[in-house]
Amino acid sequence: MALVDLSAEELAAFMTAQKSAYDELKSRGLKLDLTRGKPSAQQLDLSNELLKLPTGYVAADGTDTRNYGGLHGLTELREIFAELLGVNVDQLVAQGNSSLTLMHQVLVDCLLHGAVDSERPWSGEDKIKFICPVPGYDRHFSLLNSFGIEMVTVPMNADGPDADKIAALVKDDASIKGMWVVPTYANPTGDTVSQEVAAKLLAMPTAAPDFKIFWDNAYALHHLTDVETKSVDVLSLAASSGNPNRPILFASTSKITFAGAGVAFLAASTENIGWFLKHVGMSSIGPDKVNHLRHAEFFKDADGVRAHMRKHAEIIAPKFEAVERILTERLAEHDIAEWTKPIGGYFVSLDVLPGTASRVVQLAKEAGIALTPAGSSFPLGTDPDDENIRLAPTMPPLEEVEVAMDGVATCVLLAAGEYLSKN
Ligand code: PMP
Repeated sequence: MALVDLSAEELAAFMTAQKSAYDELKSRGLKLDLTRGKPSAQQLDLSNELLKLPTGYVAADGTDTRNYGGLHGLTELREIFAELLGVNVDQLVAQGNSSLTLMHQVLVDCLLHGAVDSERPWSGEDKIKFICPVPGYDRHFSLLNSFGIEMVTVPMNADGPDADKIAALVKDDASIKGMWVVPTYANPTGDTVSQEVAAKLLAMPTAAPDFKIFWDNAYALHHLTDVETKSVDVLSLAASSGNPNRPILFASTSKITFAGAGVAFLAASTENIGWFLKHVGMSSIGPDKVNHLRHAEFFKDADGVRAHMRKHAEIIAPKFEAVERILTERLAEHDIAEWTKPIGGYFVSLDVLPGTASRVVQLAKEAGIALTPAGSSFPLGTDPDDENIRLAPTMPPLEEVEVAMDGVATCVLLAAGEYLSKN
């Protein structure tokens, strides 16, 4: 029965049961962590062979990977990932170990120098704003905030960000210089941008001539089921919409090989790639091509990456299934929460009774279960409805995910009961 339909006596009885369940939970002295979307050690082990590679140092095209140069990144690795990301090899560069660093670099270059289509550096504008689909990735928001860029939120829907709302915002406001989107298996909702939504975002008129879409395809290859969702071919769509320089695509192998020692990629129009390399060339003579060669030898080809990703799915899919099963068993009948059932990516987005998310996180903490702080999927860490909690089940072993989720469900029920008793 829905919790809101309970009589006062029934609610009081429910609260007594939840309090004793919570006391029991607390008495177990747990120490569990569902905070960050990190790969588990078992996943990292899948790539241990990398530690013995490369076998040599000369690339297929004769490049001595030990030396300086090759700002684009090693061709044989770019060929593998160009196929996987659905872009031309000459529109893809391979760089260091972090795509977030590339996003930071692009943003800084836009601020200091302006983009290819800017009238002046963005820092020369009175005010700059970015559209941020919510819930979204906390580090996107903290990066913007570190430069004083104002964040305008729009809802993230099952088919991507609300494109009509975005089109209405950018049409007349030239201070809106860009937007973020995680197009495939988004962080944290797991939603994927549809062809229709992408087409609208790439074609919509913008008051800013240099409007940019930071197309962060961090989870492009991270399927959890047999459905291998294909990302939109954003660069072709942009070109055919007459806005070839609007999107800049980012990706990395952080959750494919080693989170701290993978390879990051950037793909964009030829003009944008020239712009990016011109600026990056001021800070580097070339990326770590030995790491590029190591990755190319390890995977051999695009199918090698696909097979590798299936091994990841075998390890983490049961953890996502446990989250779904336990939330359904414990919460569904009470009608106080909704959650996503992702078919890819790293997260489950849990919406609890509005006004109770912070309380759930606090209760969980006191019971030894660390959750991502409520509100962290929103700019400035503030969820206006205090209802969203991001769950990251990949890192702990399955048994711990099960215990933690059961505990979280207890906290969700207790917080909802407390709230309804007061209101
Ligand atoms: N983008 C998104 C959406 C992410 O979730 C993450 C990792 N949590 C990153 C980027 C970071 O990627 P990288 O390790 O390549 O810097």
